[in-house]
Amino acid sequence: MMAARFLLLFGPPGAGKGTQASRLSRALHLPHVSTGDMFRHHLKNDTALGQKARAYMDQGLLVPDEVTNEMVEDRLSKDDVNPGVLLDGFPRNVLQARFLEEILGARDQQLEGVILIVVPDDQLIERLHGRSDKEGRRDDADVEIIQKRLETYRAQTAPCIAHFRNEGVKVHRIDGTGSMDEVEQRILGALAAD
Ligand code: AMP
Repeated sequence: MMAARFLLLFGPPGAGKGTQASRLSRALHLPHVSTGDMFRHHLKNDTALGQKARAYMDQGLLVPDEVTNEMVEDRLSKDDVNPGVLLDGFPRNVLQARFLEEILGARDQQLEGVILIVVPDDQLIERLHGRSDKEGRRDDADVEIIQKRLETYRAQTAPCIAHFRNEGVKVHRIDGTGSMDEVEQRILGALAAD
């Protein structure tokens, strides 16, 4: 049996994680699990979890770990992730990273690698604004909320990269500028070169 592939898509809001995750999911035949999409689904359906998450999402803050971790643990217990998964938007801080490592450890599995998509800040802000018109995401509409999400990324999420490196997980740093095709090819090339 082939080893399960657990890959993480990493990068600031607006780096193109979601777009690349759905492309890579097709190319690599792995399910795409996005915590942001899961939360948005709960918001839309006005579930109890959605009600807990809403205020944090609207302010560009992280939803508390206990809520997020439980949702992820439940999702990763489903059979469709047996071959592995492409995780997008999780972990977002070092405690979540440890939690993920525990879940994988309990299954005798480990992270195969992290794909870190890098885009200059001015382009991120431009892209997020564009997305608010197209996708109607409330958290993309307001410059202050965008800034808050970038700040949350720098303060809480970016430190996960050093954590992964310390744990010996391979981090692929990918230039996220240019067309979607170009970025996808860079990622596939980096994974294949491994
Ligand atoms: P995203 O679509 O990944 O940018 O996520 C949108 C929002 O959902 C974030 O700004 C957070 O409020 C929340 N969120 C998504 N993933 C997580 C996570 N792993 N931990 C906490 N909050 C999250």
